[in-house]
Amino acid sequence: MAHAVIVGAGPAGASLAYLLARRGVGVTLLERQTDFAREFRGEGLMPSGVEALRAMGLGAALDALPQTHIQAVEIFRGSRRLVRIEPRDLGAPGPRIVSQPALLEMLVAEAARFPSFRLERGVTVRDLVREAERVAGVRADTPAGSREVRGDLVIGTDGRASVLRARAGLRARHAEQAFDVVWCKVPQPAFLDRGTARAYLGHRHFALLFPSYDGRLQIGWIIDKGSFGDLRRRGIEGWIAEMARHVSPDLAAHLRAVGGAITHPFLLDVVCDRLERWWLPGLLLLGDAAHPMSPVGAQGINIALRDALVAANHLGPALAGGAAPAALDAAAGRVAAEREPEVAEIQRLQQGPPRLLFGPAWRSDLLLGALLPLLARLGIVTRVAGSVFRRFANGVTTVRLAA
Ligand SMILES: Cc1cc2nc3c(=O)[nH]c(=O)nc-3n(C[C@H](O)[C@H](O)[C@H](O)COP(=O)(O)OP(=O)(O)OC[C@H]3O[C@@H](n4cnc5c(N)ncnc54)[C@H](O)[C@@H]3O)c2cc1C
Repeated sequence: MAHAVIVGAGPAGASLAYLLARRGVGVTLLERQTDFAREFRGEGLMPSGVEALRAMGLGAALDALPQTHIQAVEIFRGSRRLVRIEPRDLGAPGPRIVSQPALLEMLVAEAARFPSFRLERGVTVRDLVREAERVAGVRADTPAGSREVRGDLVIGTDGRASVLRARAGLRARHAEQAFDVVWCKVPQPAFLDRGTARAYLGHRHFALLFPSYDGRLQIGWIIDKGSFGDLRRRGIEGWIAEMARHVSPDLAAHLRAVGGAITHPFLLDVVCDRLERWWLPGLLLLGDAAHPMSPVGAQGINIALRDALVAANHLGPALAGGAAPAALDAAAGRVAAEREPEVAEIQRLQQGPPRLLFGPAWRSDLLLGALLPLLARLGIVTRVAGSVFRRFANGVTTVRLAA
């Protein structure tokens, strides 16, 4: 039986570790944090992510985690509500907003039921160990000092700033992004029910609000790329005043009233790229380490979980069958070949909405001011949004866990 070293216990690494350990494969999962709450992640789980966890046999465990379910989205332009859309009408259930620390603790607890699994927290990987033209392990800083952790296959799931990607020298194709996202939470306003999200659209700005699992309201505010420094200099009051200019009066009043109670502020420097090659002999990269996603359509966690399912299908038998390097590398190549088309197509779809908002002012003004209300009345918004939403909700390729 071969041994896998997985670097990074985010959704990709933790779920793959669980799936491999369940097959009896030896897995060492290395995570730099000692507490999952210290790493900021998204909370939106699409139906495809829910389905992936169900396929892993973890549906009931997921249902037991702190979460909310989005049943409707109201789309505004300034103070005017243009349309209310229920995801059900678009042909797929709405997203769930799930506590990520709780999800990851659940995944590693499930993995820990198998004796071949070992989680080491507080271990930061710094470099790859190479031997005879092959990755043979990693060098890591641990609380007890620097040490090598060796394995037959190293799997890099260390996220969007992947050290393994950098050390492997792998090249990526980038899709330029015009925006960053400021995330924060405020107390949930009484005028919004816990199943309803709101989106505020305008030229060069967009705000998305949804009820979080912890009883607060999550706000994602899209700003011009690189403009956060300017916003920060204006302080929290300037920040609220700027957001309030673009939203409906009820929300603007709420933001002003709760200004001091803003928590979890976080700037997401939006990056969207994809490795040209996801693997080298002895090494495979998955999740954000291979393909950081744009935040459009809340795709990152779902794609990471689907990567893990496909990786388990190909790597599980190869690792269980022994450590033949050629077989492991061939399996890694098959994982990349199967996952690349979906990631490429989803990343292509993610570029559409920002192009509308960040294109010429006349185009977004015409679309949002005149066409959108008309198209909404004719039912065309629901039809077009439905076709995009279903792909974000369900994925664009068939992903199943082999028995
Ligand atoms: C603010 C924000 C909002 C988002 N919103 C959503 C959303 O609503 N829906 C959605 O689907 N996606 C969302 N995303 C994206 C989503 O969080 C990621 O795509 C997803 O977490 C990727 O999973 P992953 O397992 O590949 O990597 P990650 O979740 O990034 O996990 C990587 C892990 O590796 C560890 N690590 C990193 N470097 C090292 C190292 N050198 N040694 C050891 N460990 C290391 C990290 O601590 C981390 O635990 C959001 C992301 C952010 C930042």
